[in-house]
Amino acid sequence: MKLPKLRELIEAVKALIKGPYTSKFPKVPHKAHPNFRGQPKYNDKKCVGCLACVEVCPVNALDYKDDTDAKNPKRTLMHYTDTCIFCGQCEAACIADHEGIKLSNDWELSFFDRKEACETIEKELQLCEACGAVIACKDHLKWIATKIGELTYSSPTLYLSRLKELKIIDENIKTAAKDYGRSDRVKILCARCRRQSTLTTK
Ligand code: SF4
Ligand code: SF4
Repeated sequence: MKLPKLRELIEAVKALIKGPYTSKFPKVPHKAHPNFRGQPKYNDKKCVGCLACVEVCPVNALDYKDDTDAKNPKRTLMHYTDTCIFCGQCEAACIADHEGIKLSNDWELSFFDRKEACETIEKELQLCEACGAVIACKDHLKWIATKIGELTYSSPTLYLSRLKELKIIDENIKTAAKDYGRSDRVKILCARCRRQSTLTTK
């Protein structure tokens, strides 16, 4: 009779003491390895709504919708967990120190209603004060202002966003002028209105 090898004997004794390697899922929830690449999750405290992640997603698992008619205009960012391939491109491209969206070790993706396959976060939008076009998310403008430091003060859109954040100016102050007069230069404007207010001479 062939005798078992010593290593196999040790493994058998270990298995007897520790129990089987497999987990008792679904009776007991399975905890994935800390390095497991599970579905990405948005972090609304870190995300600035720049859409870099939406641009790089290879399978269109990320999308967004701007609601400019709401009292507080907002951008909704969507992540479709049923389309995502967990490639991590969104996390790699995230401008918010790769923390606006991050792979988690959440792997449990089964559901009965497909609507549950969509996770969303909302970010406040900044609209042009002249034409109402979307400029960017307010957090994105603050992020740019912080990144470029004193250069912020070369752009009224950026420094007004920054001053509002610092609560140095009132959010609700609007100029009385409706045309592209000189006063419009000190407003939060989209690129088109900025050009018009600068080039139009009254
Ligand atoms: S992990 Fe990949 S597929 Fe999933 S949302 Fe991010 S970029 Fe898209
Ligand atoms: S900050 Fe990061 S997570 Fe948020 S929209 Fe930009 S790239 Fe995506």
